Amino acid sequence: MSEIPNLTGNTGIEIKKKLSYLLTCPKCSSDIDVTDIKSNAHIQCKGCNNVTWRPDYNPPWWAKTKNFVLSLIGTLIIGIVSTYIVNKIFEKEKMELNNTENSISGKKTNTNGN
Ligand SMILES: [Zn+2]
Repeated sequence: MSEIPNLTGNTGIEIKKKLSYLLTCPKCSSDIDVTDIKSNAHIQCKGCNNVTWRPDYNPPWWAKTKNFVLSLIGTLIIGIVSTYIVNKIFEKEKMELNNTENSISGKKTNTNGN
């Protein structure tokens, strides 16, 4: 009895995409997979046994600038929105105050007139 190959699996074929970090060995310039290795940890090259370490991953300057600009725009939008909301609240209170003042003064003039 020959084994039947399982071509599609039980739930279908699945393709996984994996992001991997490769460190170039400073001695023999071969790629070392450092995806599962924490930063600043010591790594031994399989090709030349040279010991090196994974440096901290620093995002490029344009990514930092982009985040900075985005945060500035976000702060600006928050400022505009909060100013608008506060203005709306104070406008409503002012109108209510004016209404009460008018009614009081109206009553006063009425009593004065009588
Ligand atoms: Zn090496």
